[in-house]
Amino acid sequence: MSKATRMTKQKKVILEVLRSTKTHPPADWIYLNARKVLPNLSLGTVYRNLNILKDMGEILELNYGSTLSLYDGNPHEHYHFVCESCGEVTDLGISVQNELNNRAALELGAEIKFHRLEFYGICLECKTLDDKNN
Ligand code: ZN
Ligand code: MN
Repeated sequence: MSKATRMTKQKKVILEVLRSTKTHPPADWIYLNARKVLPNLSLGTVYRNLNILKDMGEILELNYGSTLSLYDGNPHEHYHFVCESCGEVTDLGISVQNELNNRAALELGAEIKFHRLEFYGICLECKTLDDKNN
């Protein structure tokens, strides 16, 4: 590992906080939880280390339009479901459909590296709440 990507204490704690949850939290949630271990941590340091961890391939940054970036402690390719009502992002167990890359490559004559596929709708909890209120 080069000096720029060495695993500092701060980076290690931030990664542990993110890996400890199945949710996809924003930077300020990671900041609040990492501060329980490192009280002197600043939000800027958290953002900087999240970017480095992303570049190292240890985590994913999820962007959904204009909303805040969310972070994912699972760096392996997987699909997500986004609830349009509460904004919750959930992992899907559906395996990544690699044949889609071949189909896109054939159509474009391009080299495809990966694809993104997002599922949108209303989650079970929001659906149940909605049913109760109507
Ligand atoms: Zn929901
Ligand atoms: Mn995920």
